[in-house]
Amino acid sequence: MLKGLVKFNRVERQIFRLAKKSKLVRIRQIGVSRRTKDGLRFPIWLIEIGKPSAVKKKPVGLVAGIHGLEKIGVQILVEFLEELLDPRSPCFMKEVEDGEIGILVVPVANPGGFVLNTRSNPAGVDLMRNSGDDAKGAPFFFGGHFISPMLPYYRGLAVQPEARTLRKLMRDNFYGRRKHRAIVLDIHSGFGRKDSIWWPFASSDDRCPHESAFEDIRRRLHHDGHTGYEFGPQSASYKIHGDLWDSFYRESLDSDVGTKKNGFMPMTLEIGTWAGLGKNPKKIFNKKRLFNLKKKDRPSAVEKYKKLLRDIVLTAVV
Ligand SMILES: [Zn+2]
Repeated sequence: MLKGLVKFNRVERQIFRLAKKSKLVRIRQIGVSRRTKDGLRFPIWLIEIGKPSAVKKKPVGLVAGIHGLEKIGVQILVEFLEELLDPRSPCFMKEVEDGEIGILVVPVANPGGFVLNTRSNPAGVDLMRNSGDDAKGAPFFFGGHFISPMLPYYRGLAVQPEARTLRKLMRDNFYGRRKHRAIVLDIHSGFGRKDSIWWPFASSDDRCPHESAFEDIRRRLHHDGHTGYEFGPQSASYKIHGDLWDSFYRESLDSDVGTKKNGFMPMTLEIGTWAGLGKNPKKIFNKKRLFNLKKKDRPSAVEKYKKLLRDIVLTAVV
């Protein structure tokens, strides 16, 4: 745990340094993790980037660390934030400086899992299986189960504080946006050998009402040189019970104030770290290797994904 705590403190120092450097960055705590068995709880930080009016009117969301093990997503996200306000960086976003767009960032959505180096939160719940909604045709076990919090993919008997914090953030800032694409990108790593960018649904084969808007984003990213990603609804890869983004998305559709072109549009970037495993089956049992990139591959990969984050945020400026 000590090692995890040191890493978490390092991320906290990085984000507070951002706020110190620029007036366009504000930080506040929006929630707290479940308690660890040692009685510790960790803060969920929100970073607001941009002019306050732009953050209010045209927010885009970036989330990482829902699975505590997947640290590469947190690293990419924090490094991207360090560069987006730097005019010398390829990730510089004049649109943020000009007030055309605001960014809301949750760099570590599951700080307890991050510190403990577990996929789940400190109560053993996989937050990405925790909404309480059932899927049609999700696989046994991997798709989410109620067997035991000692096993991975446990759904939890109650919605967890980390999931409630995200829901409130989405409700308060992203639902019912008629005038822009309120994109929220959630960064994960570990599934598959290829990188994927998914849109809803994860719980059924139904087509989501924003499919043509997502297709448009796919074309724009392709045009910007982001090739090599598998795009599509998550259900085309696998289905799961209790997906948080499905739940938030359905809730936003039920409130029926968005449109098919704009509105709340959650997406997931799944970084396919399995490619680095090579042919050695032993590495499959190495947690660190399974969910993170090889050390020597990291710097260039981080560059590539930072640029991707930038261009995804810009697709919200229609
Ligand atoms: Zn994940």
